[in-house]
Amino acid sequence: MNGDAQVQNLVVLGSTGSIGLSTLAVVRLHAQRYRILALTANHQVDQLYAQCIEFRPRYAVLGERTRAAELSARLAAAGCPTTVEHGPQALIRMACLPEADTVMAAIVGAAGLPPTLAAVVASKKVLLANKEALVMAGSVFMRAVREHGATLLPIDSEHNAIFQSLPDNYAGNPQQSGVVGLFLTASGGPFREFAEADLEGVTPEQACAHPTWNMGRKISVDSATMMNKGLEVIEAHWLFNVPAERIRVVIHPQSVVHSLVQYADGSLIAQLGQPDMRTPIAHALAYPRRMAAGVEPLDLCAVATLDFAQPDAARFPCLALAYRALAEGGSSPATLNAANEVAVQAFLDGRIRFPEIPRVIANVMDRLPPGGALTSLDEVLAADAQARAAAERAIAGTSAR
Ligand code: NAD
Ligand code: MG
Repeated sequence: MNGDAQVQNLVVLGSTGSIGLSTLAVVRLHAQRYRILALTANHQVDQLYAQCIEFRPRYAVLGERTRAAELSARLAAAGCPTTVEHGPQALIRMACLPEADTVMAAIVGAAGLPPTLAAVVASKKVLLANKEALVMAGSVFMRAVREHGATLLPIDSEHNAIFQSLPDNYAGNPQQSGVVGLFLTASGGPFREFAEADLEGVTPEQACAHPTWNMGRKISVDSATMMNKGLEVIEAHWLFNVPAERIRVVIHPQSVVHSLVQYADGSLIAQLGQPDMRTPIAHALAYPRRMAAGVEPLDLCAVATLDFAQPDAARFPCLALAYRALAEGGSSPATLNAANEVAVQAFLDGRIRFPEIPRVIANVMDRLPPGGALTSLDEVLAADAQARAAAERAIAGTSAR
């Protein structure tokens, strides 16, 4: 990529999700600058078909062979030249396509790690929405970023805000830049004002009805338990090389201050904007330039008031579990992430109640010793598999009670 005139080839992993759709909405505004090279989804044939008809990517990927065959037949009948592939290896191939300049990593959960890491190893510009990948594989992931000279740009709104609030020459050295700490803002989720006893009976629908952001179901439940903020503490640690004790979470129900950097001279630098993911997506796509995101500017007088408060550790134990995982190191963050993914799915499926999510995770963390630092993708995936099995056992024990 050099110069304005050149078109960037973009791969969108998870194009049918909330982040994927917002990415395509931004690309639609700048069709002359971005060419969609590949789109991927897990099951959503109809949605991916419509996206292929609109963007005419060279490749599309679905999770299973039969759905891929169906999509391929429908696209051929419509005269669309897209080649359809399927399965996890195809995702990795898309992430490494030699013609790809930029990869949007917007698959949810651990399934996104192998292709996201492959994009890093292929030295791509990687737009990271898939926070689970970094939580699971922190040191392996960041080592690959350094060794392969990949450009890693955070899409998560808090981390994008911190990235924008750090000096341009930050280079992962907080001391040299006078950075003394980070504040991650949290909306508090739909249950911010619920009493502990009332959390017993909350439903998946309530948990997924987020007050300020419109997101996929897994991250919505994570926001309701505040595990999302816990994962983001770990994500911030790896992205910005700031120790856990200098990363603080603050409840901010309006969700317009997206996060803050605290400097040695007493300054707090923040990024503000609408709670709309098109802003961080447009920022990262255009970086180091700026371009329109299709987002209205924030009307400060309409917002009028900005509230900040301490999170309640007793009602939201997931936050402390995430700090514990970071302090333990080794496989502990991968264990936390895997146990959380399994527990959230069990809650969405009606197999456990909401307050059991942190109990399952704590149970799995208590059982699986963190060991030494994980040094390869295989070790990370082994820790992930072990924690998933332990979480399923813990859930079976919970439902048997
Ligand atoms: P989503 O559930 O709306 O979309 C997930 C996408 O991944 C879909 O395209 C789906 O088909 C695909 N996918 C799911 N499982 C897959 C699998 N096993 N293999 C291949 N593809 C699979 O999720 P989302 O809300 O867009 O979130 C995506 C990621 O971005 C998550 O890691 C989330 O934490 C992060 N994120 C999201 C938001 C947001 O506002 N939605 C904000 C910050 C970070
Ligand atoms: Mg976030």
